[in-house]
Amino acid sequence: MHLERLRSHQQNMPKTRFVIAVDGPSGAGKSTICRALAARLGFTYIDTGAMYRCVGLAAREAGIDADDRAGLEALCHHLDIRFAPANGENRVLLDGRDVSPEIRTPASDTWASAVSRVPEVRRALVALQRRLGEAGRVILEGRDAGTVIFPDAELKIYLDADLAVRARRRHAEQTARGHAVTLAEVERDIARRDLSDSTRDHAPLRQATDARRLDTSNLDTAAVIAAIARMIEETEGTGNQHGD
Ligand code: C5P
Repeated sequence: MHLERLRSHQQNMPKTRFVIAVDGPSGAGKSTICRALAARLGFTYIDTGAMYRCVGLAAREAGIDADDRAGLEALCHHLDIRFAPANGENRVLLDGRDVSPEIRTPASDTWASAVSRVPEVRRALVALQRRLGEAGRVILEGRDAGTVIFPDAELKIYLDADLAVRARRRHAEQTARGHAVTLAEVERDIARRDLSDSTRDHAPLRQATDARRLDTSNLDTAAVIAAIARMIEETEGTGNQHGD
C-alpha cells in the first residue's frame, strides 16, 4: 500500500514541512478521510470546524449572542481548545473539558455556523490554527484551510459530493449519535449552511485555485484515501516542499 511507504518516507524527513489543507462543504467526507490519513501518515490532525463548534458552545453557555462581536472576541482570547487523539477518535477539549459529543449536536451545527461569520472569531482562530500548524507535518480540514490559513500549503484538496449524498452521510452520523432528525431536515440544514458558508464576507468556502478537486459522491473511504495518497506522492515528486 502506497501509504505505508509514504509514512516511512515522511518519517525519514522529520524536519521537512508538509501541510495538507483539505476544504469542502459539510458531509463531503473531510473528517473521516483526514483522521485516517493523519493516523496512517503520522501527521497532526487539526479539525478547524471543531474549533468553531467550541466557540459556539462556549458562547451559548456564556449567554453571548452571535451578533455580539466584542463579546465573542473577548471569549476567543480566553478559550483553551485542544485535541487529544484517543482510540482512533479525536477528542476535543474545551478548557480541559471533553466536549466531543456536545459539539456534534444539530444545535451546535447552527451555532458554529453563526459564530464563524464573525471576523473577530475568525481572526482569533486562524492565528491559533497557524500556531498549531507550525508542528510542520499537519493535515487541516475546514472551509478556508487552503485559501486563508495556509495559502502556501504543500498540497490542497477540495473534497466535494452531491448534496443528497452528503445529507445521507450526515443523517447516518446524527442517527448513530442518537439525534432524532429526518433526512429532509438534515438536507435542508446542510443546504442552508452551504449557502451561509459560501456567501459570507469573511473567508467564504471556495476552492483555492491551486487545489485538487475530488468528488467523493461515488467513492468509498478507501478509494478517497488511495487517491489522496497518489496526490501526496505526486506532490513530493515535484519537490513542492518548504524547508524549516
Ligand atoms: O466542519 P464542520 O461542519 O465541523 O464545521 C462547523 C461549521 O464551522 C461550518 O458549518 C462552518 O460554518 C464553520 N467553519 C468555518 N471555517 C472553517 C471550519 C468550519 O467557517 N475552517
